[in-house]
Amino acid sequence: MEKRINRQLLMMGFAASLLTLLLTATTFYSLYENNLRDSLHNDLQLVVSSYETMNGTEMLEVLQTSSLRITLIDTDGTVIYDSAIETASMDDHSLRPEIQQAFVEGYGDAVRYSDTFGDNLYYAAQRLSDGRVIRCAVSGNVLRDFLYRSAVYLLLIFLVVVVLSIWLSAMLTERLIYPIKAMTNDPDDPSFLIDEDESVYPELAPLIKELRLRRREIRDKIRQIEQEHTRLTAVLENMEEGLLLLDIHGKILSVNSSACRYFHFKEKHMGRVFAEVCSEERLCMAVAEAYDGKRASMDLTRDGRLLHMMIEPVMNAKKILGVVCLTVDVTERRELERMKQEFTANVSHELKTPLTSVLGYAEMIENGMAKPQDVPHFAAQIRREASRLLSLIADILMLSKIEEQDGYTCMQTVDLHEIAFDCVERLASRAADKQVTLRLDGLRSTIYADPTMLDQLCYNLIDNAIRYNREDGTVWVTIGERMLTVKDNGIGIPEEHKNRIFERFYRVDKSRSKETGGTGLGLAIVKHIAEVHQATVTLSSEEHVGTTVRVVFPK
Ligand code: ADP
Repeated sequence: MEKRINRQLLMMGFAASLLTLLLTATTFYSLYENNLRDSLHNDLQLVVSSYETMNGTEMLEVLQTSSLRITLIDTDGTVIYDSAIETASMDDHSLRPEIQQAFVEGYGDAVRYSDTFGDNLYYAAQRLSDGRVIRCAVSGNVLRDFLYRSAVYLLLIFLVVVVLSIWLSAMLTERLIYPIKAMTNDPDDPSFLIDEDESVYPELAPLIKELRLRRREIRDKIRQIEQEHTRLTAVLENMEEGLLLLDIHGKILSVNSSACRYFHFKEKHMGRVFAEVCSEERLCMAVAEAYDGKRASMDLTRDGRLLHMMIEPVMNAKKILGVVCLTVDVTERRELERMKQEFTANVSHELKTPLTSVLGYAEMIENGMAKPQDVPHFAAQIRREASRLLSLIADILMLSKIEEQDGYTCMQTVDLHEIAFDCVERLASRAADKQVTLRLDGLRSTIYADPTMLDQLCYNLIDNAIRYNREDGTVWVTIGERMLTVKDNGIGIPEEHKNRIFERFYRVDKSRSKETGGTGLGLAIVKHIAEVHQATVTLSSEEHVGTTVRVVFPK
């Protein structure tokens, strides 16, 4: 619109300039022509009065100039004298309009093309007192010369006017368009404060005010919607659950990044029909059923993950508008549930075995089935099983305590060597019982750890190295830079068991473990403590050669 107005104004300016140029040129031309006629008339009067006074053609020769042609015509039209042409070659001039007019009225004039001069000539003729006629003529090319000379100035003026009209049209356009711009521009833009501006058309002012008010309202609404949309997108994008929204035709309307990950959706899938891009037949069917108003939920395994899906129709006034599918990754949760169940079963089993023994021995003593000399033996068995129960409960409690304390440990700077030394001292008698040599090497190494947990880790590893050792075996406990190594030259661990010995209640040789007072939880506790401290545990072992367990703590 702005361009159009500007173009029209420019065209108007250009046309006005051109018209002015033409009118000026025409006016100048006619003024100059009048001037020419007047001066021709004056020249003629001068020539006539001079001729009448002197009465001789010599006088005419004196008065002639290069631009003024003088002709003397007799009463019968014969040319007596002509300042430009030989008179003998000249025809009868009585029929020339200016001559005829001069004969009749005393004065005559005409403008005519002259073959002789090849130009327009201005003629003026005056009858003399003797009846002859003197005619003066000037060429019209002086007028052309004048026009050519003034054309340069006229063109310059024209150019100036054109430039002015360009500037004016731009200015006028701006002024014309200003109120309309004010309507469309940002209502809070200080350069468009319409209320105080006098240049606004008063008729438009209320409309503009109203429009600006509406614009402001709409803008605020849009901002609000945008903020809500950003908030919602942030929530949807950051949630672990996958959210998939299908429209009334089954096309993918919206999908968050988690759902994209679960379904392997890319940008190109947006707007596609879900059934065409979904490879899970069960899910497709559930989605199809959701369009009939049926809710569904199912578990699917994708990429080794267990996904729980809830498919629901989106209803409004009993009309189905689409389908929403919420996907939750339940792999860890299910695994945890499974582990808990397994742990509970294992714990029950582990508790049941010694309790059954205790119960059996106690019944035998109670019923008098045990011979008096066997009673001390049964009592020793009861004590052994009871102490096994105690250490089992202690280990279970320890494990649950570590799990509970995840992230809430009493971390402090501790000396690994000091802890290891303490454990070695506590286990020295047990090592001596089993005829196992216990050695501690290395220097002080301070780490950031929970001292109780670190003690448990160290104790369990040295305890295992003693228990699964042979007679005259050795246990080497070495402290390095943030590193604890417990090495033995005991029975070792067969290759096929290495991966599982950190599992709860997993034992290579159940009877040996039980015999030696093992609970099957020692290495599980070690693994858990290491995880809490972000330490890495590595195990290398060879059957009948020995086992080395190394724990490296982070900086
Ligand atoms: P346990 O209380 O039975 O010792 P652990 O969790 O401490 O339970 O150990 C799991 C199993 O790993 C043990 O039963 C044992 O078979 C094996 N094991 C652990 N440490 C050693 C070791 N130093 N040498 C040989 N076998 C070991």
